[in-house]
Amino acid sequence: MGEVIETRELKVYFFLRRSLFRQRAVKAVDGVSLRIERGETLALVGESGSGKTTLGRALLRLVELRDGVVLFRGRDITGLKGKGLKSFRRSAQAIFQDPYSSISPYMNIYDIVSEPLLIHRVKEKEKREKMLFRALEQVNLLPVREILYKYPHNLSGGQRQRVSIARAMVLEPEFVVADEPVSMVDASNRAEILYLLRNLQKEKSITFLYITHDLASARHFSDRIAVMYLGTIVETGITGRVIEEPLHPYTRGLLASVPEPDPLNRKKLRPLIPGEPPSASDVPSGCPFHPRCSDFIERLCDKARPSLKELSPERSVACHLF
Ligand code: SF4
Repeated sequence: MGEVIETRELKVYFFLRRSLFRQRAVKAVDGVSLRIERGETLALVGESGSGKTTLGRALLRLVELRDGVVLFRGRDITGLKGKGLKSFRRSAQAIFQDPYSSISPYMNIYDIVSEPLLIHRVKEKEKREKMLFRALEQVNLLPVREILYKYPHNLSGGQRQRVSIARAMVLEPEFVVADEPVSMVDASNRAEILYLLRNLQKEKSITFLYITHDLASARHFSDRIAVMYLGTIVETGITGRVIEEPLHPYTRGLLASVPEPDPLNRKKLRPLIPGEPPSASDVPSGCPFHPRCSDFIERLCDKARPSLKELSPERSVACHLF
């Protein structure tokens, strides 16, 4: 299959100015190495503030990288600029969380979905319209002719998100970052949109990074899961294995917050994570999760940072218990 996207020790820091001469680093992404194979969906899960969105943006080269490498189809794209970066962006697209702010309220659907084609110089009108119709059909905005000249305010939240998806898909990208694509859509549309994305991904062998805080949707939508905490990956594995047998105490806590339909299923009852995640500008010493961990080992977890250890070809965990 081969990797479409890969990172090696990727770091993204933001700097907060404390005074004229002092600033503090917010380590939003702090040494992340991951790979996603062609046609695979990797779900990136974690609480708000874990660095998921920044990592997704870093893979698309939308934020400045502090250190590390991003490879796209084996080619280092870390230093790309100008035409090279534009050509990469044609192959890599994003679907954002908020369909209200990610598409312009002043443009009609024809212009919104055609815009990427114009930016990437698809010059013939006939070809552009063919691609535009195909993208709108793929997201089930039918009949297309009735939708084309509507404005976003004429559409429901679910339809708006389909327009965002059509806009991301119109250039037939190889890699898509879908950042909480259904969290602002009403419950009745969520499953349908995820199903649609899954079908598009399978049909076209698109490689997906699916960013979510919702492990229940990751279970249905992804092939593998990477769990992120305070800028680092703490566990990765095949989705079914991570859900059925989570290893890292943080993953176990995240799963405890997923509603269990059968209250008698005691096996699934796990302790919730206490407290809030600390700030990424003030990461605890040792294991960053130690102040919240019920399995904390005295004189080890607060001193030594665990590295991400490969337990088997498809399972890695960063915890002193393993
Ligand atoms: Fe908990 Fe220690 Fe494992 Fe960190 S390394 S998750 S504190 S047991």
